[in-house]
Amino acid sequence: MRVVIVGGGFAAVKFAKTLRSKLRPSDCEILLFNRENHMVFHPLLADVAGASINVDAAVAPLRQMLPGVGCRTERVERIDLASSQLEFEDGNGGLARLPYDHIVLACGAESNLGIIPGMTEHAFAFKIMRDAIDLRQHIVQQMENAEATTDADIRRWHLSFIIVGAGFSGVEVAGEINELVRSSTRFYRNFKEEDVVVTVVHSQDQILPEVAPTLRDFARRKMEKAGITMLLKTRAVAATHEGIELNNGKMLRGATIICTIGTTISPLVQNLDVPKERGRIRTVPEMRIEGQKNAWAIGDCSLITNSFDNQPSPTTAQFAERQGRQAALNLVRILKGQPAKPFYFKALGQLCSIGGYQAVAEMFGMRISGFLAWFMWRGVYLLKLPNWSRRIKVAQDWAWDLLFPRDLSFLSTDSAQQLTHSYYRPGDFIHRQGEQPRTFSIIEEGEVEILKTTPESPEPRLLSVLGKGDFFGEEALMGNRPHETSVRARTAVRIGQVGSALFKQMTSSFSPLRDILLQAFTRRSGDFWRRLPLAKTLLENEPLSTFLDPLSSTPLHKETTLAEALRALEQSPAGELLILDDQQRLWGIFDRDDVFHIIARISVTPEDARGDLSQRKLSELLLGNPVYVSLDDSILVASATMLDHALPRLPVVQSKTDLRPVGFIRGERIGSRVIQKIGQGAAGHAQAAG
Ligand SMILES: Cc1cc2nc3c(=O)[nH]c(=O)nc-3n(C[C@H](O)[C@H](O)[C@H](O)COP(=O)(O)OP(=O)(O)OC[C@H]3O[C@@H](n4cnc5c(N)ncnc54)[C@H](O)[C@@H]3O)c2cc1C
Repeated sequence: MRVVIVGGGFAAVKFAKTLRSKLRPSDCEILLFNRENHMVFHPLLADVAGASINVDAAVAPLRQMLPGVGCRTERVERIDLASSQLEFEDGNGGLARLPYDHIVLACGAESNLGIIPGMTEHAFAFKIMRDAIDLRQHIVQQMENAEATTDADIRRWHLSFIIVGAGFSGVEVAGEINELVRSSTRFYRNFKEEDVVVTVVHSQDQILPEVAPTLRDFARRKMEKAGITMLLKTRAVAATHEGIELNNGKMLRGATIICTIGTTISPLVQNLDVPKERGRIRTVPEMRIEGQKNAWAIGDCSLITNSFDNQPSPTTAQFAERQGRQAALNLVRILKGQPAKPFYFKALGQLCSIGGYQAVAEMFGMRISGFLAWFMWRGVYLLKLPNWSRRIKVAQDWAWDLLFPRDLSFLSTDSAQQLTHSYYRPGDFIHRQGEQPRTFSIIEEGEVEILKTTPESPEPRLLSVLGKGDFFGEEALMGNRPHETSVRARTAVRIGQVGSALFKQMTSSFSPLRDILLQAFTRRSGDFWRRLPLAKTLLENEPLSTFLDPLSSTPLHKETTLAEALRALEQSPAGELLILDDQQRLWGIFDRDDVFHIIARISVTPEDARGDLSQRKLSELLLGNPVYVSLDDSILVASATMLDHALPRLPVVQSKTDLRPVGFIRGERIGSRVIQKIGQGAAGHAQAAG
């Protein structure tokens, strides 16, 4: 018989250990698939981030923990419940299939920063070991940056840490960061404890909703006394390079954002056709998946009713372990022909470290707080560690931490060599005129404005608009000089940014890219309007509406099928059609080029995934987000935008906030008007000369 376990966390490890102790290897093969070859002890992640223990003390190698269990690190891609087989990466780039007699899903949950705009780009998640290691490096780097800068505002920004969410992980990590940074200030000359700002932003009126009110109050008072600011009943609505925007409209500045809210289920569970509730797999009380005879779900990925109180089990390590143990015992009972037992567990209590050698605890009906609780917290977790070698290692680290300062060494990462992603809100500057170039930027979503000031006109003048797929920054990087224009987000924008050193490597070794950039560079720097002042004045002053052509064809909708869109395109004299969303706002443009792009894209899709192409909706086939101008833009902006994109015409919308299309603007109309004006100018000169 073969039992396969997917996952290697608290639930999976306990299940594997219990089953191995009950069934002989000759009777039952146990295979455990976990992406990493170790188990992560999540409650210690904050200690890793706060540099109070070493990384290896918070992980345990699965092979050594689970003798007699086959440990595999391939990612499980699919489970076919009907044929009792699973598919996993085979290590050669393909997929392998494996039959099983029983399968146990214990694949936990994953962090999902996508719930708040900009968090993916600017915040640290706090779920896996990599998050804790990266965060620790980043915190120490901020202290080095604060030491290096001479600008007090920038120093304060480097020393401001924002934690979103005040559940267990938010509180633990806030306490550890506060302790690490404050206790380390004595090693730096340029800043003091007073310069450090640690803020916890939490949407509810109390932190730690999981513990008793008296303990919560104690934890909050202690954390505030240690210098942590609690912003309760406040939500983060966006994150940017600068910090986070709050729901009260204020901007909270800080170079470090940690987002401890937002989880999602693993793609494996998402694709599994079984009953789910809020993404978690529904099980019967004995922990088999509803409607399945040989498939089980335990831990954070499952929704198991605890028959002790008839409530859904919380997603904690304590419950995951108990479920693992009892599910294994249930499987043994079923194999022996005995009835399985419903999940039953009376929680032992809760413990939470709040930094500064303080903790709150609720154990066996007692509430304890302060140093004693912290000592208990550490003691209990020490005993929970999987073996004595780990326990001794962690105990040594903790004893060291009590006696000596925390380790402030870090491996620096060169941002000039990196590819990063950033989010900007409308109105945020991406770079300013005169700044040194640091990145080459590619717009992934949204639009930006290119602005310029001159000594004669210090008010920023809008030169052109760039949209999805456009890039900027190449001019200053290739010319090795400061930016000659500013770039400001016109809408919410997502940008991919290539560090300057990486950009230089890419352009020196990949000549087609260099040629494309040089072409764009020549097009954009051809500011010939400067040498045609009459035409420039005309374009700056004449309202865009004078050049407006009405919409000639009925627009399409995002939901229009490809077949309908192709019929409409055949009837369209302009060879292109606007696409609207359900609020009649401009969503995209469909033109003849798109037809071939769609065919090319579908040619690389596996045949069984293509479906009936003609019935696919435009929103599934096109990317949307076209370049456009609005009635309140000048003709000069419209012509520069057309020139930048080599477009013969542009759609025009009502205004920057009202994206309903009102017509088109064409290059030839602007051109003939300009030529007329230049002609008048030349005639005037000739007359004057005569
Ligand atoms: C920072 C932090 C602090 C916490 N503190 C506490 C605390 O103090 N007390 C407490 O009780 N709980 C705490 N928790 C919650 C606790 O850690 C979780 O409830 C617990 O880890 C859930 O265990 P699990 O076995 O269900 O999943 P996990 O421990 O998340 O393990 C799931 C494993 O499955 C693997 N996996 C997923 N998909 C696949 C796939 N397709 N193929 C192969 N492998 C896959 C993952 O890589 C992962 O290793 C904390 C959580 C965090 C993030």
